[in-house]
Amino acid sequence: MFSIGTHISSAKGYLHMGKDALSIGANTLQFFARNPRGSKSKPLNIPDLQAFHQFLEEHGFAPIVGHAPYTLNPCSKDPGLRKLASEMFREDLALMNYIPGNYYNFHPGSHLGQGFDSGSQYIVQMLNTVMTPDQPTTVLLETMSGKGTEIGRTFEELAWILDQADPALSPKLGICLDSCHLSDAGYDLMEGLDKTLEELDSCIGLKRVKAFHLNDSQNPRGSHKDRHASIGQGYFGLEGICRIMNHPKLRHLPFILETPEDLEGHGKEIALLKEHFGEV
Ligand code: FE
Ligand code: FE
Ligand code: ZN
Repeated sequence: MFSIGTHISSAKGYLHMGKDALSIGANTLQFFARNPRGSKSKPLNIPDLQAFHQFLEEHGFAPIVGHAPYTLNPCSKDPGLRKLASEMFREDLALMNYIPGNYYNFHPGSHLGQGFDSGSQYIVQMLNTVMTPDQPTTVLLETMSGKGTEIGRTFEELAWILDQADPALSPKLGICLDSCHLSDAGYDLMEGLDKTLEELDSCIGLKRVKAFHLNDSQNPRGSHKDRHASIGQGYFGLEGICRIMNHPKLRHLPFILETPEDLEGHGKEIALLKEHFGEV
């Protein structure tokens, strides 16, 4: 099955969001569990979440992805901001409990100068204190472009965090790849795609990869800029994007577009990629 969707606004409610996704031919989606640049969450509309969950099952959606707000920084030097990160993480997982069996993705954060060793321990601390082995949601760490002091630019950094987390949580922890971020971080997804995936497999393990943010990039490899481009409009081009999504080690994953398009534009991108799925 080809699983493809986009980031979609939840502003008009969750069921509405599911219908929007279906209307553009998507069978997965990603949404912000709260205002991406703030910290406040709206009170949960439980009937809406339940209707949304039923909708996803009825229409055979692949796993969907809740995305943490950008303000969630579990490795801040500031204990107040770390506490806030844990609170948002806990609340978002409580929301995800109403749509069990899906993913919650977060950016490992920015260490802001204290260094990887110190910052990454705080990330592990948050995972170990908030997560439980029986939670219905799998938490994903996203691969980052290495802008500023971002943690998660290399497979080694992500592997370290996964390895340090409580082993009992391991089945509920995974990775979300992002093509724009990986390339910006320096990984070759063009000529060196096979080699990059071998490195990923030996460092983290391909079975840990649960979702894929499929974005073109405005900048060439290694630029650390994190500027997404629409499908076919960037460094990879349509051919490069199609080679990535058709790779035998990736093609089973839910692909989420985070491209600068509106709902209609996303619909066109989905149609285009459906046309090219299966071709290598
Ligand atoms: Fe992200
Ligand atoms: Fe992303
Ligand atoms: Zn990005």
